[in-house]
Amino acid sequence: MKELMMGIVGYGGMGAYHARELIPASAHIRLKGAYDIDPERRSVIEADGFIAYPSYEAMLADPEIDLVLVATPNDRHRPLSLQALAAHKHVISEKPAMMNPAELEEVLTAAAAADRQFFVHQNRRWDPDFRVLTQIVQAQTIGDVFRVESRVHGANGIPGDWRHFARYGGGMIRDWGVHLLDQLLDLLDGPISRVTAETSQILGDDCDDGFTVRLDFNSGVTAVVEVGTTNYIPLPRWYVKGTQGTAEIRDWDLHGEQVIATGVDTVAPTPVRAGVGLTKTMAPPSEAAVRHASLPAGVPLSVSFYDNVHDVICDGAPRVVQNSEVMRVLKLIDVITASAEQHQTLPFE
Ligand code: NAD
Repeated sequence: MKELMMGIVGYGGMGAYHARELIPASAHIRLKGAYDIDPERRSVIEADGFIAYPSYEAMLADPEIDLVLVATPNDRHRPLSLQALAAHKHVISEKPAMMNPAELEEVLTAAAAADRQFFVHQNRRWDPDFRVLTQIVQAQTIGDVFRVESRVHGANGIPGDWRHFARYGGGMIRDWGVHLLDQLLDLLDGPISRVTAETSQILGDDCDDGFTVRLDFNSGVTAVVEVGTTNYIPLPRWYVKGTQGTAEIRDWDLHGEQVIATGVDTVAPTPVRAGVGLTKTMAPPSEAAVRHASLPAGVPLSVSFYDNVHDVICDGAPRVVQNSEVMRVLKLIDVITASAEQHQTLPFE
């Protein structure tokens, strides 16, 4: 099977993670070298055992390089991808693909003109918690899902440097938001009719340090996506309601459960004290009315990100992550931003 040779531009946290963890796990893609504008990072490239090219142009001029990963700050994805495509290389861009849909359109047009492939590293399609949730939705273990709440909450503020500035593509909508929106649109079918968003700027940066968006699907399903960086007590990663039960996946270690209605509802709930009052409505259901089930095993994807990249380039295999899906997320981000700025619910599709 043909082996692809790869180069990386931007050898920071994520570039080095690709080099050390992700690319070595692929049997058919090999990393030759990398370029970073920071000389200290070029020393790290060498220390990791790869060629540290003296310039991006030098890396692109290497005829052995078939494929380039762009792992720089977000505002650099467009020019560096265009440069690599012009040098007749296939390109993987880290997420977010681009700063906006127009940039992605331009890069996809350039890729088609150069007859090269362009990919976006939407790696969280492979996350175990997301695969478990996909199984819950597809197998209808809690009935028809009508509400999905997807959250990531941290308390460290915005990490790093460029992520604090809008001009570099900073902010949490373009950071974690891209992952959560990509997962959600993969999970739930059909068009989204309305978008209602708010952003948080508690930390005083010129971009959002978190956001909450409610998405109303034409199907009647609603979803909430939330990223927070000032949450000292995190809410569960996933909270999902179906017509027959509720599922919670609390964290990436897959703690959580499903509580499923048995259909035996002859036993009325016993009233309980609530504060200084009494309630039957909010009393726990009787033991007979529900059963507690562990989370199911997830539906795994049959191929890894890098093996899929190889198979698309070498064998014309179908893509796991479609560029049309990436484009839809970028369009949704534009509407989320507008909704938050205007304090209004906006139409989407
Ligand atoms: P980082 O700041 O750690 O690294 C960026 C590197 O790019 C730095 O070493 C910097 O010197 C270099 N750089 C900047 N401009 C350059 C240029 N013109 N040419 C060459 N090198 C240049 O940032 P990071 O956390 O590694 O993020 C990089 C990208 O990876 C971002 O797009 C980010 O969104 C993405 N990312 C993705 C995931 C994921 O799970 N898919 C996780 C983290 C980051």
